[in-house]
Amino acid sequence: MDGNNPQDPTHQVESARKAFEQEFGRFARFITTAELRLSLAEALAEESALRELKTRNLGKKSALAASKKLIGRVEPEARAAFGQLVQRTEAEIVKAIDQVEQRLSSYLETLRNERDSIDVTLPGRRPRLGHRHPITLVRERIEDIFVALGYAIEDDREIETDFYNFDALNIPQNHPARAPQDTFYTNAGLALRSQTSTVQIHAMQRRGAPVRMIAPGRVFRRDTPDPTHNPMFFQVEGLCVDEGITMAHLKGTVAEFLRRMFGPSTVTRFRPSYFPFTEPSAEFDFSCFKCGGEGCRICKYSGWIELGGSGMVHPNVLRAVGVDPERYSGFAFGLGIDRMCALMYGLDDIRLLFENDVRFLEQFE
Ligand SMILES: [Zn+2]
Repeated sequence: MDGNNPQDPTHQVESARKAFEQEFGRFARFITTAELRLSLAEALAEESALRELKTRNLGKKSALAASKKLIGRVEPEARAAFGQLVQRTEAEIVKAIDQVEQRLSSYLETLRNERDSIDVTLPGRRPRLGHRHPITLVRERIEDIFVALGYAIEDDREIETDFYNFDALNIPQNHPARAPQDTFYTNAGLALRSQTSTVQIHAMQRRGAPVRMIAPGRVFRRDTPDPTHNPMFFQVEGLCVDEGITMAHLKGTVAEFLRRMFGPSTVTRFRPSYFPFTEPSAEFDFSCFKCGGEGCRICKYSGWIELGGSGMVHPNVLRAVGVDPERYSGFAFGLGIDRMCALMYGLDDIRLLFENDVRFLEQFE
């Protein structure tokens, strides 16, 4: 046999081994390098490349497999030596591939464990649950009390015509409440409602008399924001119209509401006042829920807290919605929800309620 003859079987085995060594070169680092730095995807790609290399060099169609078939055809005196060469070469290739296979498979196991352990230990992105705004909490308490007293809850639009915001509420053309500095007018002759009394008008037009309702909602005034004023704030307005309704019903209802809100020993007092849509009119105060009338910071050491306005519905208001003031009478009252909220939570500045600072709002969960 001549080792340099390309047709020589020995030469075929040698060239198969050389071809393998060349192809195997890139995998040598898996045996020689102490620390591998591959991503999981890269390691998986290497594993699949190694599998292809194994098929090409050791599979049924490989050069080595072809050499094996030649063993029987080699002359008898050279057969044993050739057979050993083929076996030795195959063993070398198998050993080299085995080493890389083992290293890669243990490396892949490590990478998979790292990935899985990251999945388990990292906290998920938990969405933050919201909660009700302090104004909503107070509004819902007020609603619960009046629903229990047999009142309906009414809601209506925030942009109003002059009729609902002023005329129907007995606020004539030249009344100071209509001054541009008091209200936000739009250019279409409409205005943002400056009180929730507008809802009473809509409700009476829709339902007539008798009616018992409260209207909590947002109102607007041209106020410069300061610790006790904001151009947008919340009111709740109450209305009761029926036959034979008197000032006594008004006082009883407001007093009962405040007892349910602030405790059974709460005392209410009424002071004469003026509102265009009620006659007679009265403002109401209640005994301080903090000190019980002794005097403290919340009641400014007076023992009383001023809360809202009220009165008997003006006959002109009833006439404007087609309710006969000779047959029906009624009372109405209104108070600021934000002001009550600030009182109950001891807030020095109502602007906190509208700045939507989560650090503040989170305290009311
Ligand atoms: Zn007090």
